[in-house]
Amino acid sequence: MSKTIGKASLEADEEGLVTLQCDRCKSRFKMECSYLNDELEENEICCPLCGISEKLNTFWSEEVIVEAQKIAIAEAERMFVEALKGIKSKHIKIETKPVQRVDTDIAIKNKDYDMLRVRVNCCDKIIALTSSDVTAGFYCPYCGRIIK
Ligand SMILES: [Zn+2]
Ligand SMILES: [Zn+2]
Repeated sequence: MSKTIGKASLEADEEGLVTLQCDRCKSRFKMECSYLNDELEENEICCPLCGISEKLNTFWSEEVIVEAQKIAIAEAERMFVEALKGIKSKHIKIETKPVQRVDTDIAIKNKDYDMLRVRVNCCDKIIALTSSDVTAGFYCPYCGRIIK
């Protein structure tokens, strides 16, 4: 199972969890992939550490953003070359560099295997956090309730 962002897809771990990262506090956590795909829709996600809820698109982890940028740049270059081809005439000669082929179908591996899985009773769902975050207390990313 995976969550798709453009052409990059985020791979879930063997428990069906995908890694997210809060844009504000940079803490990483995992949520159920099936929830993100089927149930989230226009709802917001609550960062388990700082407790602020935001749209899912502010929770992509660093490695996902890097891959998404590569895809965007490759796509922009391809469009640029296409546009230049269009303005070529016998009076103007523009040399276009061959576009580097970038694999725009990237699966981002889930690398956070050291997190602790926790069942949040309020939503009856699974999340994963680093063990120090679990001991410190956290917010339910699904509904924003405080869990200690
Ligand atoms: Zn946060
Ligand atoms: Zn909850």
